[in-house]
Amino acid sequence: MKIKEILLTDKPTISFEVFPPKQESGLDNVKAAAGAIAALQPSFMSVTYGAAGSTSKLTCEVASDIKNLHGVSVMPHLTCVASTREHVDNMLARIRESHIDNIMALRGDIPQDGNVCHDFEHASDLIAYIKAKAPELCIGGACYPEGHIECAHKSQDIDFLKVKVDAGCDFLTTQMFFDNNIFYNFLYRVKDKGINVPVLPGIMPITTARQLSRSVALSGTNVPERFRAIVDRFGDDPDSMRQAGIIYACEQIVDLIANGVNHIHVYSMNKPDVAADILKNLGSILG
Ligand code: FAD
Repeated sequence: MKIKEILLTDKPTISFEVFPPKQESGLDNVKAAAGAIAALQPSFMSVTYGAAGSTSKLTCEVASDIKNLHGVSVMPHLTCVASTREHVDNMLARIRESHIDNIMALRGDIPQDGNVCHDFEHASDLIAYIKAKAPELCIGGACYPEGHIECAHKSQDIDFLKVKVDAGCDFLTTQMFFDNNIFYNFLYRVKDKGINVPVLPGIMPITTARQLSRSVALSGTNVPERFRAIVDRFGDDPDSMRQAGIIYACEQIVDLIANGVNHIHVYSMNKPDVAADILKNLGSILG
């Protein structure tokens, strides 16, 4: 099913994200984790794409399993920073063969070796291309409530976001954030700019101190004092850190739904137990 149709409901929805293995040898484990998350019956699942296209085949395989073996709507990601048009065409053909209805179209991070392909400069170029080549697909795009790390001015980032949405983006998913007020402020600014597609908040349950430092280093996300205190207190105690991280994510989700943000995307990081605990905590709220 197309995600833009799933998002038409005014009831809360929750979706989960998994990432493919770096090598083929890890495929069975990832498929098992994705299957266990799919068994929880989320509204949809997404499958990320390895940096600079390192996992394109594996992304498609995991996504195809989610859709065709487990019956859950799925959205594989695709980055264009190192992709030729031919590569994108091949990905679109695979997606079509797997009867998948959605794609997340991204630029991807610029590789450290600077090895980029110039067929597509920005995600908006990829989105316009997919819209022309595969108009049947529902297209998602990324957005950054705290501004993209490369962009000096948040307002300019939102100007570029408008170009991206106008290129054919059906909905947006945010980078993770730990302070909902940042998201509410962002929603106000995008609406003000005339961006009217659904914006899904991306919530990452942090279950280890290491996960926090790695994620923050990559994204530049602000960590509020309240969350810092949790990591300082429980970071060395794995069970307590896991529990506290899940509770923090659940509190964010409850606050979002209470404020009318019904569609939540969770960066579940191949952890079915974490996804299951979130659903258990939110059972009545999610209906
Ligand atoms: P763009 O929208 O192209 O933006 C990148 C930068 O260029 C921004 O600073 C923007 O302001 C600027 N820009 C945009 N358009 C223009 C223009 N016309 N002129 C000048 N500047 C412009 N990475 C992966 O490798 N694999 C994944 O699966 C993956 N999934 C993600 C999912 C989500 C929800 C998010 C939020 C991020 C994801 N990323 C993933 C990370 C993402 O690839 C990086 O953040 C990347 O640096 C930017 O990708 P983008 O699609 O947002 O790029």
